[in-house]
Amino acid sequence: MGETKFMLKLDSVSTNYGVVAMLRDVSLTLQQGELTCLLGPNGAGKTTTFRAIAGLLPLVGGKIHVMGADISTLRTEALAPRGIGFVPEGRRLFPDLSVVENIRLGFDASGSMDVFSTRLMAVSELFPHIKGKLRQQAGTLSGGEQAMVALARAVIGTPKLLIMDEPSLGLSPKLIDEYFEIVAEINRGGTSILLIEQNAETALSIAHSGYLIIKGSIVAKGSSAELIENDLVRKLYL
Ligand code: ATP
Repeated sequence: MGETKFMLKLDSVSTNYGVVAMLRDVSLTLQQGELTCLLGPNGAGKTTTFRAIAGLLPLVGGKIHVMGADISTLRTEALAPRGIGFVPEGRRLFPDLSVVENIRLGFDASGSMDVFSTRLMAVSELFPHIKGKLRQQAGTLSGGEQAMVALARAVIGTPKLLIMDEPSLGLSPKLIDEYFEIVAEINRGGTSILLIEQNAETALSIAHSGYLIIKGSIVAKGSSAELIENDLVRKLYL
């Protein structure tokens, strides 16, 4: 059994902020087609894990593999061509650009306009909230609609692996359910997803499996059904 069976594999990943240790020996695997969540309270190291995978933070120990390739030292811009899409915390849209221009930023610049248009039609079907607003300035959309645009931008380039950092932050309860249903639909379409979330209940309702991180270390892992019954998870969230 080679590395290729895994879409994403973190082996004993450690990182520091200055001299302060943050992640300590974090190991995590995501199989092809799987939707796994990484749960944790405030300050647990969730965004730090996202940044480590995204090439935004040097590792002081361990390795990160994606589809069999060692990406531990690769920078962010080298990851999209390898089929990895990112949804960073806080959406990060360009408010003065239109919705379609923002989505276009997630598409290979060398790709033809025809291919983009075809992809845009397919992706728009997933997002009824923004389908009729493609020409509107992104900054004039509601927070929930902007979250949909950030997700559309991440999937327009057909990533094989999607890494999402706390996408539910700032979404209304009604929109959270709709948003997560779209995430599940993207996963059913074949994209493997690491969903980093504080909203454990909703994340576990769509994920196959998950991990719990506290103070920079993984303290529990298992199938979603197992984690819902896990004492630590229940104490923290449910
Ligand atoms: P939240 O849900 O609150 O965003 P998180 O699990 O994503 O939490 P991280 O952002 O990974 O948490 O932060 C983990 C810890 O590292 C926190 O204690 C935070 O204060 C600290 N930290 C984050 N960024 C830096 C930095 N650039 N320099 C120093 N410490 C940092």
